[in-house]
Amino acid sequence: MGHWLVPDAVFGKLTEISPEFFYEKGIKAVLLDLDNTLLPWAEGIFPEESLRWIEEMKAAGLLLCLVSNNKPERVAQLAGELGIPGISQAVKPRRKGFRQALRLLAVKPEETAVVGDQIMTDVLGGNRAGLFTVLVNPLSPVEHKGTYFLRWLERVLTGRRV
Ligand SMILES: [Mg+2]
Repeated sequence: MGHWLVPDAVFGKLTEISPEFFYEKGIKAVLLDLDNTLLPWAEGIFPEESLRWIEEMKAAGLLLCLVSNNKPERVAQLAGELGIPGISQAVKPRRKGFRQALRLLAVKPEETAVVGDQIMTDVLGGNRAGLFTVLVNPLSPVEHKGTYFLRWLERVLTGRRV
């Protein structure tokens, strides 16, 4: 299952990705992980640069949707602040949350990217769903308890250091 864990692209952080990068790949929609991709885990306020990035992508005509394993209240609140739709309890790496987002945005997998900070959820799930997968470094070293196990698994399987 090795290739399922390999992202199509890697960036230091979300805000290093330009709209042109997506255009060149023929990507029309970007599914975004929430925690530790757009804002530090367990925090409720977006960094200014994440907000600016979202506006830049919208202005470039890209369709956006949050796809998060977090709870409905948190995802609805934060998606509302960004003015984009959000799928909660996505159970990534299962495909159902990604498929829901594709239906919602009316786009095909081959014209859709996912950006996230975890190989075992965002990259594995995105690859299984046939999306273009982009891995970024987590914004904060603080994470959900279960994530520490997934990080360990990431390191064992890929040699990645976070
Ligand atoms: Mg995350």
